[in-house]
This record gives sequence, C-alpha cells and structure tokens, in this order.
Amino acid sequence: MSATNETHGLWEATATGAPSTSRLRGQLTADVAVIGGGITGLSTALHLAEQGAKVIVAESYGIGFGGSGRNVGLVNPGMWVKPDDICAELGEEDGERLITTLGAAPSLVFDIISRHQIDCEAVRNGTLHCAVGKAGLREIEDREAQWRRRGAPVRLLDAGETARRTGSTAFAGSLLDERAGTIQPLSYVRGLARAAETAGAQIFTNTTVDSAERAGDRWKLGTQGGSITADWVITATNAYSGSLWPALQNEIIPLFYFQCATASLPDELRRVILANREGLICTRTVITSLRTDAAGRLIFGSLGALRNVGSAVHAAYAKRSIERMFPALRDVQFQYEWFGKIAMTPSHLPRYHELDRQVIGFHGYNGRGIGTGTVFGKMMAGRILNPNLELPLKATLPQYASMRRLRAGYYEAGSVLAHLL
Ligand SMILES: Cc1cc2nc3c(=O)[nH]c(=O)nc-3n(C[C@H](O)[C@H](O)[C@H](O)COP(=O)(O)OP(=O)(O)OC[C@H]3O[C@@H](n4cnc5c(N)ncnc54)[C@H](O)[C@@H]3O)c2cc1C
Repeated sequence: MSATNETHGLWEATATGAPSTSRLRGQLTADVAVIGGGITGLSTALHLAEQGAKVIVAESYGIGFGGSGRNVGLVNPGMWVKPDDICAELGEEDGERLITTLGAAPSLVFDIISRHQIDCEAVRNGTLHCAVGKAGLREIEDREAQWRRRGAPVRLLDAGETARRTGSTAFAGSLLDERAGTIQPLSYVRGLARAAETAGAQIFTNTTVDSAERAGDRWKLGTQGGSITADWVITATNAYSGSLWPALQNEIIPLFYFQCATASLPDELRRVILANREGLICTRTVITSLRTDAAGRLIFGSLGALRNVGSAVHAAYAKRSIERMFPALRDVQFQYEWFGKIAMTPSHLPRYHELDRQVIGFHGYNGRGIGTGTVFGKMMAGRILNPNLELPLKATLPQYASMRRLRAGYYEAGSVLAHLL
C-alpha cells in the first residue's frame, strides 16, 4: 500500500473505529476551545471535561490525523535528550521537574488506557535501547547511569540477553527501561476521543480553525461552517501547525519518519523476534525503531519521507536492515508503508507558550509525544482550572528556527543519502 501525506498505513487498517463526529456548523460557545484532535488536544479535553468544563475540540481532518495516529507507538519516558543534558539546558531545578514529569508519563498513559478501557493493543514490557558497536555501548551505559541516579527502573542487558530478547545478534547490548511499553497509536487517540466525549466534550472533525480574534473578554475562533467563542484556547497542533499562528509553524523544523510493516510472521519467528513484545530503538545516528503488533507483524521505522526518490530508497533500506538483523527472514515484503512529520526544536526539547491572553499550548515534542502529549494535556487542563498551578516548563515566546526550510530539506535529503549508502 503506497504512502501519502494522508495515509496512516497499518494503524488505519487495524485501529478500533473512530467515534462518530461531524463538521462544526453554527455559532457555539465553550469554556475552552481546543485546536487539534491529537493526543495533546484530546488529553486536555478529557481532563477538562472530567472536571465539568465545557470543551469543544476542532480538528482539521480526522481524529489522530497528525503524529498521534502515525507514530511508532513506543510509550517512552523522558525525551531523547539525556537527563543531564536537559538540566544543562534548563537549569537544575526546571530540568529535574521536567525529567520527573516525563519519567512518569507512561504510567499516566497506561492508567488512562485501563481506566477508560481503551482497546489499543497496550503492552507494558519495556523498551530496549540497543547498542550498535562500542560507541553504542558507551551511550547506553551513560544513559543508565543518569537514569539510575534518579531512581528509574532501567538496567543494562549484555549482548547474549539482548540477542535472546530481540532475536538478533546485531547488538552489543541494550538498556531495558521497564517504565515503557507499546500501543496501537491510532486506537489510543481514538479511545481518548471517546473518553473525552463520554465525559462531555464535543469534538468536531473536518473543521479547520482559520481565524482567531478577541471578542470582548473571550476568543472567537472562525471555521468554514461556524465559530467557537471561548474563554480559553489551547493550541495542540504541534508538527501539523498551519498558518493560524505562524510563529508556531516557524519554530518547528519538520523531520520525517517512515514505517514499513510486514505480514504476520510465522509462529516459529514470532517466538524468536521480540517475543516479549518490547519496543526497540537503537543508538545509530540515523535512528531505527522496531516493534511487533498484536498480529505478529514486524514494524520497522527510520528517518525519512516515503515520497519522491525516498519511497524506493527507504523501503529498500528497511528490507536490507531487517534481513541483516534477522537472516531467517528472507525476501521480506511489506504490506503497509506510511510516514509522518515530527516537530523538532533546535534544543530538542518541548516548549510551552502563552501566545496571548488565555491562549496556551505545548509544542515541539521532538519524536516523544505519546506520554508527553498525554501528560502536558492533563497539565494544561489543570492550569486552566487552577491558574496558580506550576507547569514543568516556563512560558516562552516561540522562537523562529533559523533556516528551518533549509534544515528540513537537509534532513530529508540526508536520510535518503544515508539509507542509499
Ligand atoms: C512517524 C512518527 C513516529 C513517532 N513515534 C513516536 C513514538 O514511538 N513515541 C512517541 O512518544 N512519540 C512518537 N512520535 C511523536 C508523536 O507522535 C507526536 O509528538 C504526538 O503525536 C503529537 O501529538 P499532538 O496531539 O501534540 O499533535 P498531532 O497528533 O500532530 O495533532 C495535531 C493536530 O492538529 C490538527 N490541526 C492543525 N492545525 C489545525 C487547525 N488550524 N484547525 C484544526 N486542527 C488543526 C492537525 O490536523 C493534527 O491532527 C512520532 C511521530 C511521528 C510522526
């Protein structure tokens, strides 16, 4: 199945049904208007509606259209940036607050899944951060030391144990993080939407907010079919931000990530390759991810967009990599291919903005958005209900990412070159 900007590959084929939603029509009012129907927007809506607030969510396409319905489904704690580097960037106190918040994010995700009985192939058996070569080993040893100092349940596995768990001898060792797990991401975000609706939120799809203006003390958001007047506005548009608040779009460097999924593996291989269903990421500069789904398909991911010359180059690289890691898997064919946009920031850390009076949003998750979006959504709900609540990031104004188009093009071309070679 070929990939386009609109397709969600395997996740669309196997997700639970989306709740029935429609396009917004007429002049509506709410306490809070949420722009964006991904994990962040729907977590905000859920936590606000549970506290009795009147919330309306507007989504340009369908629920989970953006990164939320396309990602790898690795529910990882923290960010890619190592804990000590977060402290170096934000300062000790703010850094540790963010690390603690995001370290606990997978627990919030799995709690919500269990509390709202979200059917999303949830498995909490950890993530294996696999070391490639000696440099890779040094990298995971450093990560282990930094997380251990903070009391996190992480442990190093030697090459033998890593081979036993992954089914591949390609790695020099791995770091197992037991806080992590995997989900079917589109089912998760649709489940969040269902839970938010049950709590009383209204969700409109095929509804782009194309204007935002003050109306007395409130905000009036314009859409093609009507408007929402609300006290508060949440911007939850991340890598898929459009021109509504150009500053949000301009602070992000879009980075593409693709995935290819095989047919269900035969039972004898399912018993060997990631049999325990951990998620897998590796220490390569051009990162690779691997996981399986409930039907035993193997899902390979790496940087790049499946478009133009990238389509053939990345899929061929995925095939070669799988065959190299798992020699028993010969002439592998893919049933599904898809890709999406990650919101990178120059510091590789997320940002919190108060764009205007009572217009707030977290952005720039740098490829770690399942736990991050869920926890930040809950925190924004808390912030609206209690203006004194301290958030894990200080409010900043969006900063223009210099040469963003050039850098985006460089990464896209660079991933093609790296995978070609
Ligand atoms: C391929 C890929 C793999 C990834 N893998 C992982 C992973 O394994 N683990 C992990 O934690 N994170 C991963 N991420 C990151 C994660 O998916 C995102 O950070 C997260 O989904 C962002 O959620 P969100 O709700 O903030 O934004 P999104 O899910 O991107 O939602 C934003 C929504 O806003 C809508 N929108 C934009 N403008 C408007 C408007 N004007 N009016 C109405 N709606 C609008 C868009 O249509 C979109 O649906 C991955 C991302 C990608 C793309």
